[in-house]
Amino acid sequence: MSMTAAPHEPVLREVPMHLLRPAEPGVGVVVRNDRCTAGPKAAGFVRHLEIDVSGTPLERQCFPGQSIGVIPEGVDDKGRPHKVRLYSLCSPASGEDGQGKVYATTVKRTIDEHWETHRLFLGVASNLLCDSQVGDRLRVSGPNGKRFVLPQDLHAHDYTFFATGTGIAPFRGMLMELFAAGFKGRVTLIMGSPYATDLLYHDTLTTMQREQPGFAYLTAISREPGGPHGRQYVQDRLRTDRDRLLPQLTSERNLIYICGLAGMELGIFKELALLLPPDSLEQYIKADAEALAHIDSWERRMIHKEVRPTRRVMMEVYA
Ligand SMILES: Cc1cc2nc3c(=O)[nH]c(=O)nc-3n(C[C@H](O)[C@H](O)[C@H](O)COP(=O)(O)OP(=O)(O)OC[C@H]3O[C@@H](n4cnc5c(N)ncnc54)[C@H](O)[C@@H]3O)c2cc1C
Repeated sequence: MSMTAAPHEPVLREVPMHLLRPAEPGVGVVVRNDRCTAGPKAAGFVRHLEIDVSGTPLERQCFPGQSIGVIPEGVDDKGRPHKVRLYSLCSPASGEDGQGKVYATTVKRTIDEHWETHRLFLGVASNLLCDSQVGDRLRVSGPNGKRFVLPQDLHAHDYTFFATGTGIAPFRGMLMELFAAGFKGRVTLIMGSPYATDLLYHDTLTTMQREQPGFAYLTAISREPGGPHGRQYVQDRLRTDRDRLLPQLTSERNLIYICGLAGMELGIFKELALLLPPDSLEQYIKADAEALAHIDSWERRMIHKEVRPTRRVMMEVYA
């Protein structure tokens, strides 16, 4: 990719992958497990978990935007060994300890009523991680993913990050890395959550915004009518903050990263299509005239077909 990238297309980092396979995992040790929602009475339970991977092949080999695998011990309800679950890293490449021995992730407990039995449904890996105590050992694999990483030259671009829920994880690591490298360009993070109490790393991000003149941290709260703009999804910020965001989005330096709930990309693409002039839109989305004439009826199944993100849009979305 690196030799053929068109001007302003990112040349992404080349990152190691699959150094540990789920069938032959390594052992990571939990060294920290803290609540990371803004308020203790949040609607969801999300924890910041730090795992010491020293002595495994993961040491110094993981990058923000990549994920690691966790393989729970035991068997599932069909008697088969538990499968690997992926968790995005929220650390910079140097880890939480500055030496690439401790990497962190942001885990949301999967808790529900069982669809059929109506009994309490607890996701296996997320609750294992959230319940874990300092000193607990975990079976880990990875790193996974090479498309959702920062470019080789951090300073060659500006960044617009969209996050919902635990989709914030990679951006925490990326921001830490950018600012540690003395990044002086523009970076905007738009973070969405249902309630203000569910914002993640809110204090860290607010402090970063105070200290870094090029960084804007915008939140979109979808289930509280009381905010300055009422209920908002991340894409709504494109409209309410148009004057601030348009210069960055129309700049040839800008890259878009989207991480979080599967489906969030559709609303963002629609709003970009409505907001941006055609030559700027083309930098992010290729769509034929027919699709552009009916932006309001875009559906998720059209993404990668009639509505195609370019290489300046990085996406990591999951259910
Ligand atoms: C690339 C990637 C990165 C990810 N990063 C993160 C991250 O940073 N943080 C994070 O928290 N998660 C992340 N995830 C999601 C994570 O991998 C797990 O899918 C999630 O934690 C649930 O796993 P679990 O073992 O707790 O649940 P599981 O035990 O796997 O249960 C979930 C499954 O059970 C079924 N199910 C769900 N609800 C019900 C119900 N009510 N009744 C019956 N069945 C049900 C569904 O089929 C669902 O797939 C990521 C996923 C991907 C693919």
